[in-house]
Amino acid sequence: MNLILLGPPGCGKGTQAANLVDKFNYCQLSTGDILREAVANETATGKIVKDVLASGRLVEDELIIKIMEEKIIKKKSGPGLIFDGFPRTLIQANELERLLERNQMSLDLIIELEVDEGALLERIIKRAEESREKREDDNSDIVKRRLEVYNKETRPIVDFYSSRYTVNKVDGMKSIQEVSNIIEEMIENKQ
Ligand code: AMP
Repeated sequence: MNLILLGPPGCGKGTQAANLVDKFNYCQLSTGDILREAVANETATGKIVKDVLASGRLVEDELIIKIMEEKIIKKKSGPGLIFDGFPRTLIQANELERLLERNQMSLDLIIELEVDEGALLERIIKRAEESREKREDDNSDIVKRRLEVYNKETRPIVDFYSSRYTVNKVDGMKSIQEVSNIIEEMIENKQ
C-alpha cells in the first residue's frame, strides 16, 4: 500500500502519517523530516538546504528527487510507503510517477487533508510553542511564506492527481482521532 498525504503545512499530514506507521507498520517518507535531519547532522545535503528551509521556500526538485529515489528503492519491499510532504511540485509529481513505474510500484491511495486556511497559521504557531524541537520555519512570517509557496507550487498537483487517480478529500478540521479513523477505513477498504 503506497499512499500520498496532500495538504498545506499544518494540516496534520505528519501526525496522520505517524499514526499509520503505528497502525500498519508503513514507512513514513517525510521529505521535511529527512531534510531537517540532514541539517541537524550537518551533512553535505544539510549544508546545501539549511538556508532554504529557514526561508520557507522549496528545495530544488533535482535534489529532492535524488533523495526520494534512494529512499523508495531501499523501502519498496516493506508493507507500504507514506509520502508526506512529497511531491510538492508538478515536476516532482511527474518524476514520482516515473520512479514508481521503473520500480513496478503502484500508487494506491491519495488523500488530501482539507483545512481552513485561517486556522493553519494558528495551528503551526501552537505546534511551535508545544514542540520540544524548535523549527526555524515555524514563525509567523515564514509560515505565511510556506502557505504562499503551497498555494502557488503545490496546490496544482491536486489537479494533476485528480486527472489520473481518485483524490480522497478528508476534512482536516475534524479531531485527530476522527481524521485517523477516516483514513484507516479508507486503507482497510483498499486492502
Ligand atoms: P515540511 O516539514 O514538509 O513542512 O517541510 C519543511 C521544509 O522542507 C519546506 O518548507 C521546504 O523548504 C522543504 N521541503 C520539504 N519537502 C520538500 C519537497 N518535497 N520539495 C521541496 N522542498 C521541500
